[in-house]
Amino acid sequence: MCWYFYDKIKIHMVYLLSLTSLKKTESNFSKEENLKGCEQKMYFIDECKINSFLEDKSLNDEHFQVEILDKAREAKGLSLRESAALLNISSPEVLDKLFQKAKEVKEIIYGNRLVLFAPLYFSNLCVNNCLYCAFRKDNHKLQRKYLTLDEIEEEARILVQQGQKRILLVAGEHPKMAALNFIGEAINRIYKINYSGNNIRRLNVNVAPLCVEDFRTLKSFGIGTYQCFHETYHYETYKKMHPDGPKTDYGWRLYAMDRALQAGIDDVGIGALFGLTNYKFETLGLLSHAFDLDSKYGVGPHTISVPRLEPALNAPAAINPPHAVDDLSFKKIVAVIRLAVPYTGIILSTRERAELRRELFSVGVSQISAGSRTAPGSYKESRESMDEHSLEQFQLGDHRSLDEVVRDCTIQGYLPSFCTACYRSNRTGDRFMELAKSANIGKICLPNAMATFKEYLNDFASEETKVTANKFFQDELNGLEETIKKKTSRMIEQVDSGARDVYL
Ligand code: SF4
Repeated sequence: MCWYFYDKIKIHMVYLLSLTSLKKTESNFSKEENLKGCEQKMYFIDECKINSFLEDKSLNDEHFQVEILDKAREAKGLSLRESAALLNISSPEVLDKLFQKAKEVKEIIYGNRLVLFAPLYFSNLCVNNCLYCAFRKDNHKLQRKYLTLDEIEEEARILVQQGQKRILLVAGEHPKMAALNFIGEAINRIYKINYSGNNIRRLNVNVAPLCVEDFRTLKSFGIGTYQCFHETYHYETYKKMHPDGPKTDYGWRLYAMDRALQAGIDDVGIGALFGLTNYKFETLGLLSHAFDLDSKYGVGPHTISVPRLEPALNAPAAINPPHAVDDLSFKKIVAVIRLAVPYTGIILSTRERAELRRELFSVGVSQISAGSRTAPGSYKESRESMDEHSLEQFQLGDHRSLDEVVRDCTIQGYLPSFCTACYRSNRTGDRFMELAKSANIGKICLPNAMATFKEYLNDFASEETKVTANKFFQDELNGLEETIKKKTSRMIEQVDSGARDVYL
């Protein structure tokens, strides 16, 4: 039996229970208002609690904010209330302190590593009508395109030949492309690509929420992270932004990660699309989701993504964001997430401009996409020959190639990592969390990051990148603690003598 129906029944039972308890406390609200509140109560996103924090003037107190920041250095995370207080910081001095603490915590857990990946869009067909997305079904200005298995393989091969080791497979929600056997075959073909020992070693997937049984099938394809963004946790905004299609169902999407975890997918990635509602509410919604998963499964989200609305063809909410987030507030969001859930990977996409991306690395970002294209088939087609805007999901802010991004990272003092070792060494879910929460993950990540970066330098880097990066690489190696240095040097010797995919 498909668990979809079981989950639906469960949700409706909670709904009915809420109705009963509501009856006992007959209120002055109209029936409609009561039902509205009740509908929301069946979820773990507690809007009343979040709103009470947003209205609580005591959370503007600078002394309290500084106290929280002093404690945050321990990298043990924050409560929802503490996170709300940090989102209220307005004094420039306290704000600087927030950014400094976020930087310190990022360094404790992740060091200076930045994990790189690229998205692979294989279809822009969609049955939903999300007002912020160019793929929405009523957008007749968008040219529809979906890739065949051969075309998907070709796109992936191009990414491998650029030096990528991680791909995020992305598609709109459509029965034509959502067939699990099609996705399975695409994954199978991508994993088989081999280019002189270089290959895709971790395939993450961002597709519409599934039932438990289908998540089990997805897991059997050997995926890394299952990623799905709730877009907005604010119930009324969610309803407004998703006028029709299966995505109208707030609860079905909200519990997608529960079903994925129940199906045995260890690593899940959540996210919100900033700009749809008040950013403080959205951040607290996102953190509520992370805390809920951690408390129920002992495994918080493997990653949290922070996409921000960018213009998209004929998508009204993207062209005029209802709650546009300025750069400084955006930086604050990233810093607060880093302190609230120190163990999680924070993903920043190429939606953002290069200059801002550089700034955000320092306050907590640990994974970035690079050299991305968001139109199906666009890695093959040159930018000149393709009208990308008529096919893509949203416009990009960072158009640099992978090689340019890699070079720039090293200039900024960040170590580009193509590591995928944890997933293949079975360090996923709680095993990964344990290492990340205790800040021990770096001992494994660092040698792996260096070895995979060396692969990149030997096989794919341009001469210009080699000149800058080789010096950076040597300095990094020299700066390592003696035991880690020995281990890393041995791995690098192997890479230099032709071995590929060397990892701990
Ligand atoms: S956001 Fe996703 S579900 Fe919504 S229209 Fe775009 S592709 Fe479809």
